[in-house]
Amino acid sequence: IISGENIIKQYGTGGEQRKVLDGVSVDIHEGEFVSVMGPSGSGKSTLMFALSGMDRIDEGLVTFEGKDLASLEDDELADLRRTGMGFVFQQPTLMKNLNILDNIILPSMRGNRRKAAEIAEQARQLMQRVGIAELEKRDITQASGGQLQRAGICRALMSRPRIIFGDEPTGALNLKAAQEIMELLSDINEEGTAVMLVTHDAVIAAKTERIMFMCDGSIVDELRLPRFSGQDIEERMNRVIAKMR
Ligand code: ATP
Ligand code: MG
Repeated sequence: IISGENIIKQYGTGGEQRKVLDGVSVDIHEGEFVSVMGPSGSGKSTLMFALSGMDRIDEGLVTFEGKDLASLEDDELADLRRTGMGFVFQQPTLMKNLNILDNIILPSMRGNRRKAAEIAEQARQLMQRVGIAELEKRDITQASGGQLQRAGICRALMSRPRIIFGDEPTGALNLKAAQEIMELLSDINEEGTAVMLVTHDAVIAAKTERIMFMCDGSIVDELRLPRFSGQDIEERMNRVIAKMR
């Protein structure tokens, strides 16, 4: 569904340039469930931004469903991201002055191609499914972190994306809430949506089908099902950290 070839992304100018992605190649298949681990600063979020078209890359090629992202105008890219991709972050960026339902439907109302009642109905079904149906009118300041993350996932699912990108979506949650969110993402994945997660947590990564390990802007290792345990992951991570510059 997404392919990256020799992606180079640098920050800084002149002699101060630094390759934060140093020739990364990666393929994510339709319906695949992958995770990315690696030390802080290794380029995980940058890779996710590059693959999702949130950031333009300096060199290399990124294609989404065969479309070269670099060939798209800004509005075409924004459209593709809005309709094909969903995003979940560590802290869902919800609006404090809106209730949970309104937060979930807000991005869908902007396109305004569907009737408001139909959009609200879809949102209610999603809320039901993720277990926050009763929180529809709740102010977001009165919901727990896990509940807000569920709301964030509902919002991401509104456009029926083919891939969900999650940058440490469980990072701010306690173990139980994190595991519940992972179960939810697994269910969504089983229905055919690809999921790409960035995580620091081996227990979370162990629930995905493939783990890519990043170090200093490169993918340096990979583990695939069915051959990994939590211990395998820890061992690989330690090896990756040992390679750090
Ligand atoms: P973490 O686990 O801490 O989230 P990460 O692996 O996601 O780390 P990135 O956020 O991808 O790391 O950052 C990779 C490197 O790029 C870091 O050294 C960071 O300081 C640098 N970087 C990220 N964004 C920018 C920016 N906008 N301008 C300059 N440097 C940046
Ligand atoms: Mg990051």
